[in-house]
Amino acid sequence: MKTFRFAPSPNGPLHLGHAYSALLNADLAKASGGRLLVRIEDIDQERCRPEFETAILADLDRLGIAYARPVRRQSEHFEDYRDALARLEAMGLVYPAFLTRAEIRARTDDPDWPRDPDGAPLYPGDDRALPHAEALGRIASGTPYALRLRMDEAVRRMGELRFEEAGAGPDGKAGLLTAEPGRWGDVILARKDTPTSYHLSVVVDDALQGVTDVVRGADLFHATTVHRLLQALLGFDAPRYHHHPLVRDAHGRKLSKSEGDTGLSELMAGGASTNDIRRRVGLPPAQPTPST
Ligand code: GLU
Repeated sequence: MKTFRFAPSPNGPLHLGHAYSALLNADLAKASGGRLLVRIEDIDQERCRPEFETAILADLDRLGIAYARPVRRQSEHFEDYRDALARLEAMGLVYPAFLTRAEIRARTDDPDWPRDPDGAPLYPGDDRALPHAEALGRIASGTPYALRLRMDEAVRRMGELRFEEAGAGPDGKAGLLTAEPGRWGDVILARKDTPTSYHLSVVVDDALQGVTDVVRGADLFHATTVHRLLQALLGFDAPRYHHHPLVRDAHGRKLSKSEGDTGLSELMAGGASTNDIRRRVGLPPAQPTPST
């Protein structure tokens, strides 16, 4: 069965951009006779709060979005991510990285230093060559660290990878696209105090939940290339991707969770109907469900 998912992070209220993503997922799931799942992406326990989760689910109800229960909450599945990480470690593809933000900045303070698709400098990878005993000693002494993927080795082992893009990336690309995970360098898979990262948990959950179609904002288009690599390494099927344009504010800026004027709860509390919201984000009016 076609399985879609809407995967908000409960670190703020939903805005019109989320509403668009959720409604599009619901429409596509319905049109394909499939199902929609909701996944709460709350691995960042500092920024995520239960009251935002409650508000998000209430907003989805108010929009009339039907989804399969139970909702998967990532913070309840850290074991699944640990297992996946252990598999990557057993493949020799993970190393502990100790450079602090300031050290990374100092090491990469060169206009020619390579940058990832988000514009951040690639990790210098100094600690790749650190003797194992030295790394273990630092970890035992409580030094903060991140577990990073040995990207060049992972790419070498997996060879050329492709993914299907049914929407469009920021540059309008669609169809069967080549993944270029190397552009991200040694991505973080986990940290000292968080046993997973966004990339790892998304890939594990999409596989465990049988997600066939990932419909999400174009801001995550470039992340797909890392997800495709992790799927290949972990032996997971790749879903089909559909990246949609971001809803922008009147000034053309990307919406942020703190912007009150596009907050979904405020708009609906102020009397906006689901069809008003659909119109604002450029979706056709909902078809009334025939009453029996
Ligand atoms: N949790 C992510 C967000 O709220 C979305 C992740 C995804 O759809 O892959 O931006």
